[in-house]
This record gives sequence, structure tokens and C-alpha cells, in this order.
Amino acid sequence: MRAVLILIDGARVDVFRELLERGDLPNIARWVIERGGLTTGTTVFPSTTGVAYIPFLFGRYPGSVGIPGIRWLDRRGAAGGWRAQWRAARSYCGVQGSLLNSDIAPAPSLFDLVPESIAICTPLTRGLGPNGNRIVLRRAVLGSAAHYLGTYPALDRAVAQAWLETTAEPWRFLFVVFPGVDGISHLTDPRHPAVLESYRLVDRALGAFVAQVRNQGRGEMPDFFIVSDHGMTVMRDHSDTANLLEESGVPTLRHPVHVWRRGARAATMVSGNASVQLYFDPRSGRDRPLTESEIPPVILEQLLALPAVQLAACRGDAGGVVVRTQNGRARLTEALGLVRYQPDRGDPLGLGGDVELDDRDLLSRTRETALPDAPRQLLQLFQAVRAGDLALAAAPGADFRESWEVPEHRAGHGSLIAEHMEVPIAASVALPDAPIRTVDLMPTILERLGVTVPSGVALDGVPFSRIADVMEPLVR
Ligand SMILES: [Zn+2]
Repeated sequence: MRAVLILIDGARVDVFRELLERGDLPNIARWVIERGGLTTGTTVFPSTTGVAYIPFLFGRYPGSVGIPGIRWLDRRGAAGGWRAQWRAARSYCGVQGSLLNSDIAPAPSLFDLVPESIAICTPLTRGLGPNGNRIVLRRAVLGSAAHYLGTYPALDRAVAQAWLETTAEPWRFLFVVFPGVDGISHLTDPRHPAVLESYRLVDRALGAFVAQVRNQGRGEMPDFFIVSDHGMTVMRDHSDTANLLEESGVPTLRHPVHVWRRGARAATMVSGNASVQLYFDPRSGRDRPLTESEIPPVILEQLLALPAVQLAACRGDAGGVVVRTQNGRARLTEALGLVRYQPDRGDPLGLGGDVELDDRDLLSRTRETALPDAPRQLLQLFQAVRAGDLALAAAPGADFRESWEVPEHRAGHGSLIAEHMEVPIAASVALPDAPIRTVDLMPTILERLGVTVPSGVALDGVPFSRIADVMEPLVR
């Protein structure tokens, strides 16, 4: 058995469906969806590139392996010398990008468990063999040119070419990443003609790959999985939280040139850019994150009053996670396999009141709300000690970064809102008749490849074939 996981970075599920219905993705329709199906899955919070790849390759939530965002602050390092301070202000967007691999807590990747793996154009490479990581140089050169000049089609074509070249080789798992949809959307709009053309490019690449496999008569077609790591929306309001804090007299540590901010009283670490995590007194050397009552109330209320903020979340004084809106407050806790949502003011997650449910049933319950899977996603984020003292998720149309975002993000992602959390999950194998998450892909692929998860390794996801079983006692 062989499997191919194709990641269309930033693909929106509704755009994907529209193109399919129009007949614009004929190869995906024929070789993937007609053999299996297509569903709307959900990703992780923060819904951003790199962080949201972790579920696919580790079967874990980012918070479970200590990665709270694409930028985060190492509280201890931030109190050190200038070099330590730079390193402590982690950002996987630039030269620190490769640290993502070593920052992820010890856990086997799909590449570790399937040594015959090849990956094309991925920032996550842990566990790949000596020749397993492809187009490394072209990814660096074409990737940075694309970032500034918008030349993503050249990068996507290099991916398609490298993918085609793998047909002559022995492998069991292929991970193929197309960055164009995300990159061009940021510069334009998620429905721009050039973005739609990037979806079609992936379809043509699949067609070429299938034709080559058939020509070679290499027996059965591999299993195909086509996914995205996050959705995307047009951004009208860049509500830069660092600028806002500075204007109200709070010196703020931030990327890229203010990582050495003198007398910093706060740090803002933006992901996506529609989410941000704040760390207070970042030079204190304090390792322990703050809980609700320790967060400066004036700053919290000022942030909650911003139209750009959908909600804020932090660790509760008595454990769990507290969710706040300007007029709302609720607690999230987990015990004995049940997640509990207890609003005491308003209803910040829009669940209609007190709810206590098993994980998968809660996913179903939240699936059609404006904040799908929010309880699980907030709980998983704050498992990470590295997560900020306070996390903000942006409202539709808003993000948290204006200064230094070159070129400007006209569209973005990173929040907990449905348009960012919903992703297409297409597979040439049967899909369960229940909601699924991106974290379910890795266990599904391992099962299809006949690879057993080593004992002692706990995954956050569940193979598709077992999701009906997991649901059964609740459906009863
Ligand atoms: Zn992006």
C-alpha cells in the first residue's frame, strides 16, 4: 500500500467545492473524490501555516507538542542577553524557520514511522531520510521571490515537477505541498482568478502524476488525500495590537526589529495574522504563565473593546481555560473524558448554555457554529506552557498586524472563526459519516499503510475507520 497526502495551503473548502462543481478539477474528481469522498473538516488554532501542518505529520495538536503559534515567546530566554532575547522571540516566518522541527516535543512523525517517505516543499521535515526532502533550494529561492513578487506559480510548478519525478522511485508515503493558493490569496483575495488558477494547477499536477503511474504499470493506484491547513478571508482592518499598546504607553516587544524593546511590559506574538498571543512582563524571567486574575485588567478590557477581537482566552485561576468577550465570560474544563463549557455571563462560544460532552460529540455540536471546535482548540492551545498569557482570535475581516507586514496582507487566516477553521478533506478512501479534523489524517494514513502506532505513543486523532465506533455510544 502507498499513500499521497497533497496539501493545498490555504485552500478554502467552498472555493474548492465550487471549482469541482464547475468541472475545473476533473482529475481530483475522478481519482480522489469518486473513489472516496469530500467533506468539510476543521483545522487547529492558531489556523496558520507550519503550526497547522503538525496534525498531518504528527497526529497531534500543536499545543500537545509545545508549539503555540508561528510566533511565540520563550519566557526564560527573553530575560537573557541580546542574543538570547532574539532567539527567545521565536518566529518561524524568517531565518528561525527550521527551529520548528527541533521545537516540536519528542514524538514520532509520519516520516519516522514510514521511512520510505518523500516530502516536497515542506517546512516540517523531521524524520525524513537523507534524500527524502525535495526541492529544498528551490523552495528557499523561489519561495522568497514569491513572497515579495507574487511569483507563486513558478514555485507550484517546481513542486509539480518534483512530484512527477517521484513516480520512478520506490516510496510508500508522499507529502506534496502547494503554497500558491495561500501566497497569492494573501496578496489579492481568496477568489482572485490567479488563486483559482492555482487550484487548477494542482489538479493538472495530479493528472500528470496519475498518467505516469499508469504508464509505468506499477500496479495499484496509491491512496490520495487532499487537504488544506486553514481557510482564508479578506482583511479590511489591520488592528495592530503592538501599536495599540505602545500608543497607550505599554512598551511592547514584537517582531521583527522590536525584539529588544527596552523596558517591555508586554510582548505580542502574531500568528496568521488573525490571532495574537500576549505575554506580560516579558523580561521578568518568570517561567510560569499568568492566569486570569493576574492579567492586567485595563489592558484586557481595552483589547476586548476592539471591534477586531472576536474573543480572548487565558488560563483559569482554578485550571481550565477562561473565554472572554466584552460582555461574556465562560469556563472550559476537561475531566474524565468529558469537556465542559460553563458560561457565567453571555455565551462567548454561542453554544446556548452549559454543555458537557465527550470530545467527538462536542465537535459535532460546535461544527455548525461560528466557532467550530473552539472548546477543544482552546484547551489544546493552553496545554502548551509556551502559549501566551492571553490569546486573541480576530473577528471576520480583521487581523492584528499592520506594521512590518510587507507586502500587505489583503487576505489572511489564524483565527477561530469558521472561515479560517474549515478546510476541505478529500480522500480516495471512505470518509466517516461524522465530523473529522485534520489531526485524524495521520492515524488514517498509518492504518492504510498497515503501520501500527508504537506502544506508548498517544495520538490526538482517530483513523477514519474508527470514528463511527468512537461516535457509536453517543449516537445510541
Ligand atoms: Zn498564509
